[in-house]
Amino acid sequence: MTGNDVLLSVQDLTKNYVSKKSFFGKPLSYVHAVDDVSLDIYRGETLGVVGESGCGKSTLGRSILRLIEPTSGKIIYNGTDLRTLDKEQMRQMRRKLQLIFQDPYASLNPRMTVLDLIKAPLDVFNIGTQEERVERVLEMMSLVGLTEEQMNRYPHEFSGGQRQRIVIARAIILGPEFVVCDEPVSALDVSVRAQVLNLLKELQEKRSLTYMFISHDLSVVKYISDRIAVMYLGRVAELATKDELYDSPLHPYTKALLAAIPIPEVGRKREGVQLEGDVPSPINPPSGCYFHTRCPYAKDICSKEKPELREVHPGHWCACHFA
Ligand code: SF4
Repeated sequence: MTGNDVLLSVQDLTKNYVSKKSFFGKPLSYVHAVDDVSLDIYRGETLGVVGESGCGKSTLGRSILRLIEPTSGKIIYNGTDLRTLDKEQMRQMRRKLQLIFQDPYASLNPRMTVLDLIKAPLDVFNIGTQEERVERVLEMMSLVGLTEEQMNRYPHEFSGGQRQRIVIARAIILGPEFVVCDEPVSALDVSVRAQVLNLLKELQEKRSLTYMFISHDLSVVKYISDRIAVMYLGRVAELATKDELYDSPLHPYTKALLAAIPIPEVGRKREGVQLEGDVPSPINPPSGCYFHTRCPYAKDICSKEKPELREVHPGHWCACHFA
């Protein structure tokens, strides 16, 4: 992480989906997938985004890249609000903004060779001659730990870990600055997860990449992140450096998530806030603090007023009335 040089700033980002329409097509209710999220991502860092399934973390990642059109808010990347760009300008911008997602098999066309798969972005943007493109593919393959002999093989001939290496090579071939990694190791065997995480770390250093790393798995996020944002029902509950968040969590939800991680040596859970009940529906989220229906510390004010995300200690943000 290189100082506090902001590469990307998300401001009041919201994404609502219409969940029910009237007979005449008028929206009757919405899913609040991302609800007024503001955060900065520093150049060269990995910002982990963690939360239970349905908390809006993937929608946030995709909205930032405008793969999903946000409902409102700003996404300032290197001084430009991505939401003001037209289709062609956004297409050009995609060279700098990439996505790696969970299932490498689903994202690789089974009828294409590794060479063609990794080369595709160069073909799309018409970069270099065919020879130069092949050369660039070989350079990327070596960078991610694949060999030249593998370039004419098909995805099914590779293991899950190797397929994710192909996806990573394709994602970095255009020289991106910012990569959203959406659960990139969740579909992999535990034994190869560390290898892929180490590869991502190595590439970050070599290629000066900035990551948003989305995962439901707190141990994975801890391993790779510099700072971590905890999301609950589309909002950021807490945001801090990795050490602060794990050593001194402030938000009851973060405490509950940490308490749910088994201690590896003894296989039991940590002491602390226990998370009970299911995540409420994002169609009709609770009033005030979204967490009040599950929070053991909830008071009257919690169901009435929304707690703002505020900086409780330098660099440590928390959205709780009592933090
Ligand atoms: Fe719990 Fe209230 Fe804090 Fe929300 S604002 S986390 S309900 S104590």
